[in-house]
Amino acid sequence: PFEVLVVGGGPAGAAAAIYTARKGFSTGIAAERMGGQVQDTMGIENFISVPYTEGPKLAAALEQHIAEYDIDAMNLLRAEKLIPARELGGYHEVVFSNGASLKARSLVLTTGARWRNLGVPGEAEYKTKGVAYCPHCDGPLFKGKRVAVIGGGNSGVEAAIDLANIVGHVTLIEFDPKLRADQVLQDKLRSFANVDIIVSAQTTEVTGDGEKVNGLTYKDRESGEERHVELEGVFVQIGLVPNTEWLKDSGVELSPRGEIVIDEKAATNVPGVFAAGDATTVPYKQIIIAMGEGSKAALSAFDYLIRNEAP
Ligand code: FAD
Repeated sequence: PFEVLVVGGGPAGAAAAIYTARKGFSTGIAAERMGGQVQDTMGIENFISVPYTEGPKLAAALEQHIAEYDIDAMNLLRAEKLIPARELGGYHEVVFSNGASLKARSLVLTTGARWRNLGVPGEAEYKTKGVAYCPHCDGPLFKGKRVAVIGGGNSGVEAAIDLANIVGHVTLIEFDPKLRADQVLQDKLRSFANVDIIVSAQTTEVTGDGEKVNGLTYKDRESGEERHVELEGVFVQIGLVPNTEWLKDSGVELSPRGEIVIDEKAATNVPGVFAAGDATTVPYKQIIIAMGEGSKAALSAFDYLIRNEAP
């Protein structure tokens, strides 16, 4: 058994494991895929103090930093169930899909999130070649160019406003007959001269020249007609889904969107169980934020362990 077990090996998990190991606690980190979303990222330009890096490079650096410490790193382990300790200071248990189970007096949950995909032809093919999911990350790559934002909820409309300040032209595409974003955001979006809003439109394909995106095809759901828009980028904003399905019956409180509910110290409602990063209710899903939150959760786990002896 460990004193601290971190579940998830992205930026939040790596930071948490390093912080608890530095406190001298026996620490394990178990992840389905070490590196997390960072593995799927091309250029990273907003990891402060590092002007430019690439996802796989940063992921390798995370693993290397973990390896500097006495941390038991376990890759390719998918958590399926959490059984909380029966008494304060006792052992929590995490059961994995291969049947193994690990125990620890404190847990830090950092299982991250995944962007919901459109699932249309061209989307996967042109990922990072014009198809993007994070305007804070990739917006500046499209400076002066034409982009579409797919999704008219709050995140889609916020992304369109953000991008309208940077890119040449934004086409917002919404499946429903009207946008679902807050009115104040819709009003703000409509105040831009370089934005078109298309509703009742079903995106059917992302097109490209084999190298990069050159357009998008949608079906007008009223007339049934197919239309094509020429552009250089497509931002998909139809939802970020937290990887928390495995916590459903654990007693750990989740928000209506499935995010792990945490307080300002990264504590969940279950004593000794902390959480950090994209899987939680903390707003703004970014690498630097996930690392800060992971560190915070680790310090809270330390605080919990020194105050609660094993029963
Ligand atoms: P994640 O990175 O999602 O890591 C979650 C970890 O948990 C992974 O190891 C995963 O395998 C594991 N896991 C999931 N479920 C289980 C389970 N059941 N059992 C065990 N392990 C599990 N942010 C920036 O700041 N700058 C950028 O330029 C940037 N670009 C991005 C580009 C793309 C394409 C994407 C997808 C994201 C980008 N982001 C960027 C966002 C950033 O990657 C995330 O905010 C960050 O990775 C969140 O870290 P995390 O540790 O919370 O979760």
